[in-house]
Amino acid sequence: MVEERKCSFCGQVIEPGTGKMYVKKDGTVLHFDANKCYKNMILMKRVARTTAWTEKAAIEKDARKRAREKKE
Ligand SMILES: [Zn+2]
Repeated sequence: MVEERKCSFCGQVIEPGTGKMYVKKDGTVLHFDANKCYKNMILMKRVARTTAWTEKAAIEKDARKRAREKKE
């Protein structure tokens, strides 16, 4: 059984046999489903939390919304 991996940037499930594995100098292993995610994270140095179309940004947005609702 092939291990199911998620994209390190956008959080989407990567289809086995596709995508790109990237190892940083410090040994951290990153998996990418598309070149778009690789470019955004490595070349453009974007943070997943602040990039609107990623899963992490959606979670962050949801948490912020919930925190705001709690205050009111
Ligand atoms: Zn991705």
